[in-house]
Amino acid sequence: MGYDLSQYGLKVLLVEKESLPRYKACGGGLTRRTLDALPFDVSPVIEDYTYTARMLYRNRLLYVKTHDKPIVGMVMRDDFDYFLIEQAMAKGLVVHDDTAFESVSGRAGELLIKTSKGSYKAKVVAGADGVNSSVAKALDLKIKHDVMMAIEGEVCPEDMGMLEKFRNSIDLDFGVIPGGYGWVFPKKDHLSIGVGSSIRGLRDWKGYFRSYLELKGIIPESMKYPVRGRLIPINPHKGNILSNERGLVAGDAAGFTDPMTGEGIFYAVRQAAIASQVIKDVFLSGSSVAEYTGLVKREFMNDLIWAKRMAHVLYRYPAISRRLLFRCGEALGENQTAVILSQQTYSDVFRKIAILMLNPIRLLSLLSQND
Ligand SMILES: Cc1cc2nc3c(=O)[nH]c(=O)nc-3n(C[C@H](O)[C@H](O)[C@H](O)COP(=O)(O)OP(=O)(O)OC[C@H]3O[C@@H](n4cnc5c(N)ncnc54)[C@H](O)[C@@H]3O)c2cc1C
Repeated sequence: MGYDLSQYGLKVLLVEKESLPRYKACGGGLTRRTLDALPFDVSPVIEDYTYTARMLYRNRLLYVKTHDKPIVGMVMRDDFDYFLIEQAMAKGLVVHDDTAFESVSGRAGELLIKTSKGSYKAKVVAGADGVNSSVAKALDLKIKHDVMMAIEGEVCPEDMGMLEKFRNSIDLDFGVIPGGYGWVFPKKDHLSIGVGSSIRGLRDWKGYFRSYLELKGIIPESMKYPVRGRLIPINPHKGNILSNERGLVAGDAAGFTDPMTGEGIFYAVRQAAIASQVIKDVFLSGSSVAEYTGLVKREFMNDLIWAKRMAHVLYRYPAISRRLLFRCGEALGENQTAVILSQQTYSDVFRKIAILMLNPIRLLSLLSQND
C-alpha cells in the first residue's frame, strides 16, 4: 500500500511497532496469484521456487505434480517485507519503525494520529497491522472472524541432504494434527516447518510439531529462530464493515485469509492495491473511503464462503476427511493448485469434489450445518 500510494504522489507515513527488518512466523509461500498481484518483481528475495506440490496423509503420498513454471516462491518474511518497504521508500514513503500506532481522533479528513513516538495529522488512516488490529479498534470497525492457530520453526536439519530432498517442492501433510495440516517449505539454508489447526483449545502444540518432524525424518541440528505460534484470522463475517470516512483495514486486520491453507499474503497484497485506489480517489475527487468495503467484499467474499465450506468438511469431520483425501486426494491437489494459480475459484472446486465424493442429500446437510 505504501508503494502504490507513494507512486500516486501522496505523502505517506508508515509506522511499524517492531524494529525493521523484523522476523515473522510465516511459511513465506508466495503463491503464483500473489506473485502476479505484486506491483513489482520480488525475485531478489525469493529463496526457492516450488515446481512440485505433494499432498500426503501421514507421509503417504496422495498427490504429486511437477509444473513447468514455479507455482510458489519461497521468502523469509523479514527480507521480503523489508524489500517491499525499500521499493516504497524509493517512491517517497517515510518509515518510522519502533513506533506503535495508538489512537486516532478528529473528523474525517482532519485526523490526529497518536503513536508511541508522537502525533501526526493525516487525511486517512489505513491499518495493515495484523490480526489484533489496533487501527480497526480505533476506527470502531467491529471486525468479526474465526481464527486458526499455526506454529512454525525455521529448522536446520542435521542431515543437509534433507534440504536437497525438499528443494523446489512443498509438502502438505494431513492427519498430523487434528483439524489442520503440516507443511515443509524449503528455504535457501533451512526448512520452514509448521503445523496449523482451526480447532479451539488444542494442547501440546510443540508435541505435534515434534511428532511431525519425526514423521518427516528430520532431526534438527539447530533452529534459526525459536518455534513460534501465531493466530491466523479466517472466515470474516459477511456483515463486517472494513472502512468508514476516516480509514480502512486490509489483510489480517480485515480478517481475510484462505481457510483451506492459511494463505494470507495474497489477500493482503490485493486489498492493499484496492485500498490505494480508493484512497487516491479520496484525494483526487473527494470520494469516500467507505466505498472500500464493498469493493473488497465483491472480490473475495463469495469465494471465501465456498472455501469455508470446503475447509469445514476437510477439517471438522475426520472420518469424512480421510475418505475424501484417499478417494479424491488427486482431484483435491489438482484443484487446490488451480486456485493458487488463479485458474479457478473455490466454488468450482467444491462442485467438482462434491460430485466425486458425496451423494446430494449428504451434501445438502453439510451445507446447511455450515451456513
Ligand atoms: C505460522 C504461519 C504461517 C503462514 N504461512 C503463510 C504462507 O506460507 N503464505 C501466505 O500467504 N500466508 C501465510 N500465513 C499468513 C500470513 O502470514 C498473513 O496472512 C500475512 O502476514 C498478513 O499480512 P498483514 O500485512 O496483513 O499482517 P502482518 O504480516 O501480521 O503485519 C502486521 C504488521 O503490523 C505491525 N503492527 C501491529 N500492531 C501495530 C501497531 N499498533 N502499530 C504499528 N505497527 C503494528 C506488526 O508488527 C506487523 O509488522 C502464515 C501465518 C502463520 C501464523
